[in-house]
Parts: sequence; C-alpha cells; structure tokens
Amino acid sequence: MQDRSENAPLQQLDDWDNFVATRYRQDKSEEEFRNYKADANPTVTEFYRQNHAYQTLDFVLTKKAEYCGLNRDKKSIWEIAEYLNTLVDDSDPDTDLTQIEHLLQTAEAIRKDGHPRWFILAGFVHDLGKVLCLYGEPQWAVVGDTFPVGCGYSDQIVFPEFFAANPDSLVSDYQTENGIYEKNCGLDKVHLSFGHDEYIYQATRRYLPEEGQYMLRYHSFYPAHRHGAYRHLMNEQDERMFEWVRKFNQYDLYSKGRERPKTQEILPYYEDLVSEFFPSKIAW
Ligand code: FE
Ligand code: FE
Repeated sequence: MQDRSENAPLQQLDDWDNFVATRYRQDKSEEEFRNYKADANPTVTEFYRQNHAYQTLDFVLTKKAEYCGLNRDKKSIWEIAEYLNTLVDDSDPDTDLTQIEHLLQTAEAIRKDGHPRWFILAGFVHDLGKVLCLYGEPQWAVVGDTFPVGCGYSDQIVFPEFFAANPDSLVSDYQTENGIYEKNCGLDKVHLSFGHDEYIYQATRRYLPEEGQYMLRYHSFYPAHRHGAYRHLMNEQDERMFEWVRKFNQYDLYSKGRERPKTQEILPYYEDLVSEFFPSKIAW
C-alpha cells in the first residue's frame, strides 16, 4: 500500500487552488508572473510532478469509463455538497474556508455583479467534482491545471519539464501538434487530463445552459483560457464559449480573499436556485 503522503503531497486540496490564485494575482508584474515557480512550495511542486507523470491518455480513458457513465450514485446537489464538506484535511478551521464556503463565496460574487441565475448556479456547483477525492482518487487525478492528452504538450502548461516522466511522451503519435485529433476538431472531441472539471460537467450538463457547461468543464484549463494555447484544436463554438469560461475564472480566482459568506442567511436563496434547475436527485 502506498503511503498517504506519497499519494497526497498537498496538505489540502485547496493548496493547488491557492497556488493558482497566487500565480494570477492581479497586481503581478509580467516578470513576477513568469517566475511562478517561486510561488510553488515543495508540496505543490511534488503534486505537479505526479500529475504530469501519471495523466496519460490511457489513464484518462479509464477514468472517464469509470465515472462519466454516472452509474455510481443518485444524490441531490445538497447531499454531494455536504459530502464534499467532510473533506477536511489539515486545514485550519479558523482561517480556511470549507468547501461549501468557497462555492458560496464564488456564487455570491457572481450574484453581486448581477449575472443571470444559471451563472450564479454554475458558481455554486463548480467544484463539487472534488468528491472524486472522497471516492479514493489521488490528488493528481482530482485537481491541477488541465491539459489535452494524446497530443503534444504546450509550453504554456506549468512545469512542462515534468512531462518527460509521462510514458506518453515516448509515443510519437501522441507528440505531434494535433496528435490523435484533427485540426480544429472541437474540444468536445479532445480528452483533457482527468479531474473535477470533467466529472461535474458530466453530472450537471443536462441541467445547465451551454455557457454554464463550458464554465464547469474548462475552468481549470488554464493553458487555453489564460494563455491561448491549443487554439488549433478548438472550433468556432469553443472560441465563442471561452468568453464565458474567462468571465467565470475571475470569480473562481478572486472571490477568495473576501469575507466569510453568511451561510445561514443566504442558504434559502441557494435552495431555491438549486431546485429551479435540478430535480431532487441526479446521477453521479
Ligand atoms: Fe475547481
Ligand atoms: Fe473553485
């Protein structure tokens, strides 16, 4: 059996989110930005080492077959949210937000800016896919910036040097620019590294407008939505929809520092919102 720390270098799943937020801090100079490695502590670096080494095309296909058929469970959004909240690692309860608080904070920031209800809802559910961690998946298969597998790695992905340890880097068919895909085939045909984005997208896609589906599915695809990589695999619909992914990212990244949400006060609003879009139980 693997040692816990070997499989879970991050003290808490949020260490990855916090690293990303630091990487894109709004007041950062271009030079500071390029030096992102200075913001990564040893556990974050080890996390990326594992993520880049183990996310192969085979792995992604296996996990999609395992989870994306949604035949594991039938649960309400609230049951999954409560379940996700049991994910307490080594976080500090006084300063760190619970998972539900992060979701509420993101959603509240969207609500304050007067966006439509489905957009607020997308904020509220966007990280529920992190329950993969409670299903026993290692951190590197739950969080991390996502990237396409089965084609060449962009140098816009953080820590690109760690891909040298990925067995796919020795498969020449997977290392051309388009790899196993056709130019501009559309992202729906492209397999991204597996994690909480794809899982929450699959679970909720029937209930959200397309803009919301894109927000959930690609919110961790930083090489594309922040750095413009992989446009050769995107089609016109992807290009249009990525406007929304970028809009969403502002709230995911920058709502964190705000005050703790007044959960009890705002809960009735979210109960209404969730039941407007979702049936009482959905497939997971
Ligand atoms: Fe996320
Ligand atoms: Fe998030």
